[in-house]
Amino acid sequence: MASQSQAEWPDVLDPIEVAPRSFLDAHQEAAITAMSRHAFENAPLINEVWKRAGVSPSDIKSTADFMEKAPFITKDDIREFRDRNGDPSGGMSVSIPGQTVSIGTTSGTTGDPTPVPNWRRMPSEESYSRDFWHIGARPGDHICHIMFTFRGGHRRRASMELGLCEIAFSMSPTEIPRLIEASKIYRPVTMSIFPGPLILAMEQYFEKTGDDPVDVFKSYKGAVFGGEPLGERLKNLTKSWGLEIFETTSLGDVAGASQCRMHDGFHAYEDLAFIEAVDPITAEPVADGEVGELVVTTLVDRLSPLVRYRTGDLVVIDRTPCGCGRTHAKFNLLGRATDQILVEGRSILPREIMGLVENESETRAALFQIVRTHREMDTLKLRIGYNTERLAGSPDALRGRLHDKIASEIGVPLIVELVDEQELLKLGPPHKIPRVTKS
Ligand SMILES: [Zn+2]
Repeated sequence: MASQSQAEWPDVLDPIEVAPRSFLDAHQEAAITAMSRHAFENAPLINEVWKRAGVSPSDIKSTADFMEKAPFITKDDIREFRDRNGDPSGGMSVSIPGQTVSIGTTSGTTGDPTPVPNWRRMPSEESYSRDFWHIGARPGDHICHIMFTFRGGHRRRASMELGLCEIAFSMSPTEIPRLIEASKIYRPVTMSIFPGPLILAMEQYFEKTGDDPVDVFKSYKGAVFGGEPLGERLKNLTKSWGLEIFETTSLGDVAGASQCRMHDGFHAYEDLAFIEAVDPITAEPVADGEVGELVVTTLVDRLSPLVRYRTGDLVVIDRTPCGCGRTHAKFNLLGRATDQILVEGRSILPREIMGLVENESETRAALFQIVRTHREMDTLKLRIGYNTERLAGSPDALRGRLHDKIASEIGVPLIVELVDEQELLKLGPPHKIPRVTKS
């Protein structure tokens, strides 16, 4: 039998990634009705919430019925159920013997980490497999797996099924010499996940050793960045190393969602999840192209059947076909609904501030907090951490530079407080420092 050469392999791993919209809609409708029944019958929290709302799975015969009738759940509902019933999964775990292959946890970015049973076919594995393929990983290639404190374990299975050889690292700056050596020996094609703190530590390493990043990364077809938004400075830095960065985020804990090579939003695989956007206050549906809170429903995960889960993420959904050839929706992520602040009626999210702070040498780590005493304020208050060793002039001069730049970009009254960045690092690792604080 003749075998195909790599060049003839299809551009997408699964044909469903390019399926016509009508096929996806029909697929989703069937999956939504089936998952509604499964969740109602097996997940105690869904059962309780639906009964309280007077809704039964037999009321859901179409996607339209679902959007009109199915009640929402939130992370608070899950935590409240957990505390009231002593159920660590918050009423969202279904036990199917032989199907649970491992237990991970959510990242705990916005609260306590929550245990997550990993199913034999985790949707996050499926999405990562498709993403790796899209970046260009093919059977026989090496990849660097930098282990994130996130669910755990699933990536290895995705790699094994694609025939990729993983080289594993902890997410720690002490691993950098080993990571660089492995890159030179095995010439991997991708690295996942490559987070901001590691990029910053690597920048320092290259500055200190004089090692050539372009040579180190010359075999890479892309690196997966996750953890928090990628600012312009890190984007340009990694570009100067010859690395194409593909940002990834969690699709409300039901799957992963990553950028494609168009770098214009995160793809939600719509055969794995149904996504909606709603007004964060009224929960009324928001049209594609408008800002709304992302709501997700898993279409495949029978062990954690999240149905109409409000993620707290503010997004803009785009369902027009993408330049990469995929027909599945994309969304732009603006920030957490709870991180939003209104100053003189203007909505401000930490992401906007980040790009302005990281461009000054002394504040390039982008460690800052928005001090929000009320949701609506008449002055924007920022606490910005600076590196004392990088300080060229006086702190007052730096404060003046930051103030003028941010005030002219954001256009609202502003107060900047400067602190030694070590003060902010006492609050947690760089990617975990609360971006919005009350005091
Ligand atoms: Zn695309």
